Amino acid sequence: MTFIAAPIVLRVVLSLPLPRAFDYLPPTGMVADAGWIGCRVRVPFGNRERIGMVDAIGAAAADAPDLRHALARLDVQPLLHGELLASLRWLARYYHAPLGEVIATALPAVLRDGEPLPETCVHGWLLTEAGRTALPAMRQRTRTRALAERIATTAVSEEVLGATIDDWRAAARALHRRGHAERVALAGGSDGEIAASAGHALNAAQREVVAVVLAAHDRFAPMLLEGITGSGKTEVYLEAIADCLARGKQALVLVPEIGLTPQMLRRFRARLGVPIHALHSGLADGERARAWTAMARGEGRVLVGTRSAIFTPLPEPGLIVVDEEHDASYKQHEGVRYHARDLALLRGKALAVPVLLGSATPSLESLQHALAGRYTHLSLRQRAGAASPPQVRVLDVRGRALAGGLCADAVTAIAAALARDEQVLVFRNRRGYAPVLLCHDCGWRACCARCDAASKGMAMTVHGGGRTLMCHHCGSRRPAPRACPDCGGLALRPQGQGTERIEEVLAERFPEALLLRIDRSTTQHRDALEKHLDALGDRPGILVGTQMLAKGHDLPNLTLVVVVGVDEGLFSADFRAPEKLAQLLIQVAGRGGRAGKPGSVLLQTHHPEHPLLTTLLAGGYPAFAALELAAREAAQFPPYGFLALLRAEATHDAAVQTFLGEARDAFAAVAGKVSIHGPLPAPMPRRAGRVRAQLHLSCPQRPRLQAALTSWVPRLHELKSARKVRWSIDVDPVDMY
Ligand code: ADP
Ligand code: ZN
Ligand code: ZN
Repeated sequence: MTFIAAPIVLRVVLSLPLPRAFDYLPPTGMVADAGWIGCRVRVPFGNRERIGMVDAIGAAAADAPDLRHALARLDVQPLLHGELLASLRWLARYYHAPLGEVIATALPAVLRDGEPLPETCVHGWLLTEAGRTALPAMRQRTRTRALAERIATTAVSEEVLGATIDDWRAAARALHRRGHAERVALAGGSDGEIAASAGHALNAAQREVVAVVLAAHDRFAPMLLEGITGSGKTEVYLEAIADCLARGKQALVLVPEIGLTPQMLRRFRARLGVPIHALHSGLADGERARAWTAMARGEGRVLVGTRSAIFTPLPEPGLIVVDEEHDASYKQHEGVRYHARDLALLRGKALAVPVLLGSATPSLESLQHALAGRYTHLSLRQRAGAASPPQVRVLDVRGRALAGGLCADAVTAIAAALARDEQVLVFRNRRGYAPVLLCHDCGWRACCARCDAASKGMAMTVHGGGRTLMCHHCGSRRPAPRACPDCGGLALRPQGQGTERIEEVLAERFPEALLLRIDRSTTQHRDALEKHLDALGDRPGILVGTQMLAKGHDLPNLTLVVVVGVDEGLFSADFRAPEKLAQLLIQVAGRGGRAGKPGSVLLQTHHPEHPLLTTLLAGGYPAFAALELAAREAAQFPPYGFLALLRAEATHDAAVQTFLGEARDAFAAVAGKVSIHGPLPAPMPRRAGRVRAQLHLSCPQRPRLQAALTSWVPRLHELKSARKVRWSIDVDPVDMY
């Protein structure tokens, strides 16, 4: 009898919702070794082909069915390796997501699809002979002429053109069509055409902060920079990045989607004097892959990007900055539900570089770390320029007539601002909150009797077309009262008045005023928002909008901010609602009066005495945060307790209930000290015709919650009922949706 050694196989992970690898023999004629790990391969799967990554190599199992050969190895060198691959493995474990899906999330689409790494050589534009002949006759003061003059004698890189001439691509295309210009490859990224410029002379507070940040290089140092809007945080980042570049290192800067504007990129470009690579949702797949690759090759020195930029390789890491670190857009809300800020800290630790988190309104998680001394706590308390902070006034609207949600005082103030040729922002805080029942006459609201003690009155949410109230914390239900239990009035209404309605009312009241509505439905893209605001310029007018308007783009002529719809945030079923509301109020208030003119803010509410409002007004965000942290601690909510959700949705309620019921039963065996609640309806219990519900897990210790999830999630994959629903695990959920 001859002894045959088991063949060495490739363990390949694929972008599938299955927590396992698949074994393949290497492509015919090739031998697998450790050098394959991190390389992409093309493999047969069912009757089609897929792209996967080699996770490991090993001996085939003795009882392995007939193994198929992989079709091709796509990378000579591993695409993912070292720290980044290790971080992705950690991510898969922590979020209980299949590694194949994590990798598919991390890679730019072009690379995920198996394409080779794109070329990263720099391209520029140059006039042709014909172009130089035609130049004197070109129309003056056109973009085309400006571009032609710029590239008449030497080629200028596309990156520099982007930073200096608006819409240059259209002009380049026009020149190219006439044979007047051509695209040329430039030698080795040499690009000294925009020199670094000195920033502002820093003020004393900024200098102090910068000194601390610079002292922390070449080791992991988490830092929280808490600085009010306009206090010069960005100047601090720029100093730190300039220093990082001077030391020959790369810098990664994360910004919220809405913050990554062309102006911002120009500011970075001008100050740092090197090409700034950008990654955001507005880019074509090819451009995203080029930015990723340029960083992977060390050619790119600074990358500014949104959430997914956290997956960029950093072979020469020097610094990671997370601007507006509290921003909810850092949390991915589908697929692999990672948090880019948390991942920034993980990578910073693995790479031994400082991680600088900045915000005017830090997340309570980060703030608690800073207060406990785990993060260096830095602050900037004054505006850097000439602007003074806005005046805030609370308008009690109980029992007052409201038109489109606005009270008479607000309308009068708007009229006055318009008469002074100034701009007004009417901010409607609506998105993200479930409807709560509120008495317009006295401010009474429905809250859960069973959950009162733990969390100062958990709001009950309106269901069943207004007939039922339900607590999303414990699941208890009762019929909605027909009259207010406190004042007997009949003015009970679920809160919620959209921006469209406000716009309508304002258009009637101010027919001659310029009116601009900005929300997800009018403004899908970041660029669209920029264009709207550019078009508005300094002209007097009214902006009506939601969250989108809370930050970005300076509006120097904006002097009045009216905030409506505060109350749902005060009493939402979501324990994070007060934090989000406080952050929004501070951000929105920061929009007013940025240049010389003083700004004012009017807050409409049924609850002028609410501690959130009074604390925020008297002591600002730090006072609010202290109060809220105490409440979170009492209720054992994050950052004092840890949460995970199991979400499920299906067209039939029964499928969701069966799956969650079985999941809950399976949890009993692994629970340890972890509590479980549910099945509870999702805050939005129906979406796109699908029923949605969830289980809530919570535990005061993170490792215990993780241990329970690690035993539990594989069992969920085995449940038959799991196949009849769409389900997902959300670790450290941000939105309960
Ligand atoms: P933040 O990022 O905290 O909102 P920025 O860095 O954008 O603040 O600064 C706000 C404004 O103040 C910008 O217009 C910036 O150019 C200006 N600024 C920042 N630092 C200084 C300084 N030291 N002296 C003068 N102006 C400054
Ligand atoms: Zn009442
Ligand atoms: Zn309850």
